[in-house]
Amino acid sequence: MNIARAIVVIGGGFYGCSVADHLARQGANVVLLERSSDLLTRASYHNQARLHNGYHYPRSFSTAYRSRWNFRRFLQEFRPAIVTDFTKLYAIARVGSKVSPRQFEFFCETIEAPIRPARSSFLDLFSPRLIAAVYETQEYAFDAAVLRRLLGERLAAAGVKVRMETTVVAVEPNPAGNGLIVLDHLGNTIPADYVFNCTYSGLNTIQGITPTRTTLKHEITEMALVQLPPDLEGISVTVMDGPFFSFMPFPDRALSTFSHVRYTPHSAWLEAPDHHPNPYSLFDTVTKSSAFGFMIRDAQRFMPSLEAMKYRDSLFEVKTVLVKNEGDDGRPILFEVDPHQPRIVSMLGSKIDNIYDALDAVNTYFANRIE
Ligand SMILES: Cc1cc2nc3c(=O)[nH]c(=O)nc-3n(C[C@H](O)[C@H](O)[C@H](O)COP(=O)(O)OP(=O)(O)OC[C@H]3O[C@@H](n4cnc5c(N)ncnc54)[C@H](O)[C@@H]3O)c2cc1C
Repeated sequence: MNIARAIVVIGGGFYGCSVADHLARQGANVVLLERSSDLLTRASYHNQARLHNGYHYPRSFSTAYRSRWNFRRFLQEFRPAIVTDFTKLYAIARVGSKVSPRQFEFFCETIEAPIRPARSSFLDLFSPRLIAAVYETQEYAFDAAVLRRLLGERLAAAGVKVRMETTVVAVEPNPAGNGLIVLDHLGNTIPADYVFNCTYSGLNTIQGITPTRTTLKHEITEMALVQLPPDLEGISVTVMDGPFFSFMPFPDRALSTFSHVRYTPHSAWLEAPDHHPNPYSLFDTVTKSSAFGFMIRDAQRFMPSLEAMKYRDSLFEVKTVLVKNEGDDGRPILFEVDPHQPRIVSMLGSKIDNIYDALDAVNTYFANRIE
């Protein structure tokens, strides 16, 4: 497919960078606009760094299945950014879990995700009163700083023009033709044939782009950054499937993230059809005090040695999810063509490895366009 068009991509996170690179390599003249001073500084950096391999989604078969598929592709394509030298344990809580050990085993078998009962040295780390089963699995972490470098190199090689510290405030019809004009916060204008809105939490904040039909939920989240005690070094744990905790390597800081389903979200709000407050502005105004104390007090009941975990820092961010997946915890992509201006597309990836689903959707969009 050859796309000899002028395209503006808004948002220099993992999605915006990937879409810009993808389109430029197909012949488009691409400008990428990012409000921060660098690429991948928001959700694409402030996250749990888990390269999903399906295990996390026993209640959403489609998300689990796609994760398995995308895991292999992502691993191959971004190998220098992937950290594999740790053991990933999934544990099933005895009380309050939405999945039992038998169901989890059956689910892993169905999606063909490798799993085996944990060796006794790992099992001994858990309280048998609260944990029903522990499995060794195959799941990895990504280093967001390496992804940033790799994508920066790709954008340069593909000839994408990147403009940092540029906040897009509006997209308007171009009076000189059937294209568009993108306006930034300084009043600069950039003409475009197509606009891809990859602004994640900011998706519904740009004038002239119709808010998504899919309702968005925003959460102010905290991932604590911790130093693991010596007996947990080289281990990552996720307790399923409910109000439990997880710790994963965070390679760029040589620490681990520590999160808790109950305490990681500090506050949340839903968008309404006529109400789209700017999540970034709300984020800037809230007080960010750590809930690490609550997280660790609960988690050490399940793993007593967590008591020696050392708090170092916190990553706060706005997390944006689709309200329709609240029940099954699924993480599909959102890809919506503006109903009033079909040359504008808003997209949200939900998790990093969904990028392949998003790029497929971009290809389908152009394949179906009738000029
Ligand atoms: C707490 C948390 C944990 C997560 N854990 C995982 C995980 O373990 N594994 C996983 O795969 N995914 C995880 N995710 C999801 C993952 O981080 C996101 O799906 C992914 O980063 C989205 O990429 P993005 O490029 O769409 O968003 P972002 O990286 O947020 O990029 C959007 C960019 O748009 C820019 N922008 C916004 N508005 C404007 C504007 N008006 N003009 C110009 N630029 C603008 C922003 O500055 C930002 O750089 C997690 C997310 C959070 C918040």
